[in-house]
Amino acid sequence: MNASGAVAAARPQVLERIRADARFVLATHESPDGDALGSLVGMHGLLVELGKDAEIFIAPEDLPLPLEYRVFSLESLIQAPPADIAQRTVVFLDCGNIDRNSARVLRDGAHLLNLDHHHDNTRFGTLNYVDPSASSTAEIVWDLMRELGVGATPEVAQALYVGLITDTGRFMYENTGPRAHRMAAELIEAGVDVPGVYRRLYEEVPPEKLALHARALSRVQRFDSGELTLSVLSGEDFAEAEAEDTYSEGIIDQLRAVQGTKVAVLVRELTAGERKGQHKVSLRATEDDVDVSAIARAQGGGGHRRAAGFTTALAIDELISFLRAAVAAQLHVASDEHPAATPA
Ligand code: 5GP
Ligand code: MN
Repeated sequence: MNASGAVAAARPQVLERIRADARFVLATHESPDGDALGSLVGMHGLLVELGKDAEIFIAPEDLPLPLEYRVFSLESLIQAPPADIAQRTVVFLDCGNIDRNSARVLRDGAHLLNLDHHHDNTRFGTLNYVDPSASSTAEIVWDLMRELGVGATPEVAQALYVGLITDTGRFMYENTGPRAHRMAAELIEAGVDVPGVYRRLYEEVPPEKLALHARALSRVQRFDSGELTLSVLSGEDFAEAEAEDTYSEGIIDQLRAVQGTKVAVLVRELTAGERKGQHKVSLRATEDDVDVSAIARAQGGGGHRRAAGFTTALAIDELISFLRAAVAAQLHVASDEHPAATPA
């Protein structure tokens, strides 16, 4: 069955589980972003509206949420998987790979619904509604709501709107089409405070965040005629700027925008948690000629063609060599076996 056939087959089965089952727990990937949280809150609202018992699980290490996402009230939040997990249907949202959720016990749910839009989703659910043509997982939740005839409260509309605008880069990326704008129009009709949402997500910037961005932008490195644009933030940078880990959000968009860039990379040292001292690598491609998710997968990560990531124990110089070779291998397949090695 091809991908769209699989989506068409999974959708009614997912709808059936939502109608039939009584108890749910909702989960997403680690370090949840706007779409992860927006689709969690949206799905929770949908289930509550249908009279279901639904809990939202977020691991303690992912709390408190980054400042910009504290707009979500997160009702029914639990920080440990429920004791009755074997009687609950677990809904994974925006989670391409089950290993991106730390709570292994969630795998013991009665059913595992996998609702996502990552093309490299590993289809780990008992039911997999994975639609790579959806702009966001929020769009998949919105589709289910409409099919089930459930209206969005202003809070649910706002949550889905946050998922939509964060994953489309505020309606800028290639996943923005008529469907995304129609969804936006309907959500605004349901009560989204548009300037309020944007202000909370993208403004109210703490000065420490600005200081961190200044550091990253003051030392941008460009390789191979500028095809690869990269910056590195060390643990010291975070300490000296007095910045939290999540304050690097947004830097990658500025690197991606630099003239001549094919692939933008932000490397940041993790300052806490199990992988402290390792580096989190964010990748963005400006066009379809490089699939950055393939580069991320080669290092145990994943993502979308134009936005992906991984965490690595490689030293910075080894990492940069790997990235240069990986980008060159995709851009210069047959024409040049030995791409230019000197930094631009
Ligand atoms: P970001 O650079 O914003 O952290 O991540 C961009 C996209 O890459 C995310 O939407 C997610 O799909 C993917 N991604 C980032 N880090 C990882 C990772 O460690 N593993 C996987 N599978 N995907 C990742
Ligand atoms: Mn997403």
